[in-house]
Amino acid sequence: MSLVALRGVAKRYATGTLALEGVSLDIARGDFVALLGPSGCGKSTLLRLLAGLADPTAGSLSWQGTARPEIGFVFQEPTLMPWATALRNVALPLELAGLRRRDAEARAADWMARVGLAGFERSYPRALSGGMRMRVSIARALVTRPPLLLMDEPFAALDEITRFRLNDDLLRLWEAERFTAVFVTHSVFESVFLARRILVMAPRPGRIVAALDITAPSPRD
Ligand code: ADP
Ligand code: ADP
Repeated sequence: MSLVALRGVAKRYATGTLALEGVSLDIARGDFVALLGPSGCGKSTLLRLLAGLADPTAGSLSWQGTARPEIGFVFQEPTLMPWATALRNVALPLELAGLRRRDAEARAADWMARVGLAGFERSYPRALSGGMRMRVSIARALVTRPPLLLMDEPFAALDEITRFRLNDDLLRLWEAERFTAVFVTHSVFESVFLARRILVMAPRPGRIVAALDITAPSPRD
C-alpha cells in the first residue's frame, strides 16, 4: 500500500501560472524518490503539496491512514539556530515533542554519530562547514523518526566532494532506517545514485514525463 497516492493533481498559482497539471503517482513506504527536471517544472510545488504547505487546485492526495504523517524537512540552506550548539539543534524537535532534555540530548547525540558528527556536539553552527551543517540538518530532520523525509535541492550549494560524501552517507542511512524520502534535484548523477525511483518532470505546465524504477542493487554493493 502506498504512503501517499496523487490523482490528477494540478496547482495553479494566483498569478495564473499552471505549476502542475495531471500529476498522478504513488509513493510506496520505504521508497527513495527523486524529482528531477529543469527550473520551473514544478518540483518545489510538488514538494510543497506533499508537505501540506499548499493545496492542489484540482485532484487529490490520499494518505495511507488518511492523515498526513509527521514529515522531516531538509532545505538547501540549513536553517539552524545560530545561538544553539549542534546537539541542541538536533535535540529541539524531541523536546518540542515532550522528551526531557537529558533524554532528548542522548538521542540527539546518537543521531549526530549516525550522520558522522560524533565529537561536534558542542560546536555552534557557524563553526561548522557547509557539509557539516547539512549533516546537522539531516540529523534534526530524522531524530523524531518521521515516516517521510522531504528534501528540496539539499546539496545544491555544496562542493562536489562534500556532496558525494553526503550522498553516500545518506544512502547508508536510508538503507539502515528505511524512511520514505522524496527529494528535488537538478542532478542526474544524484538521482541515479540515491533514488530508487526517478520522476522526470517538464515545465509549462509542470508534469511528470517519465518515471524510472531503479531495480538494480545499491550502487555501493
Ligand atoms: P527553484 O527553481 O530553485 O525551485 P524558483 O525560482 O522556481 O526556484 O522559486 C524560488 C521560490 O520563489 C519558490 O519557493 C517559489 O515559491 C517562489 N516563486 C517562484 N516563482 C514565483 C512567482 N512567479 N511568483 C511568486 N513567487 C514565486
Ligand atoms: P521548480 O521547483 O521545478 O523550479 P516551482 O515549483 O518552483 O518549480 O515553480 C513552477 C512554476 O510555478 C514556475 O513557473 C514558477 O515561476 C511558478 N511558481 C512557483 N511558486 C509560485 C508562487 N508562489 N506564485 C506564483 N508562481 C509560482
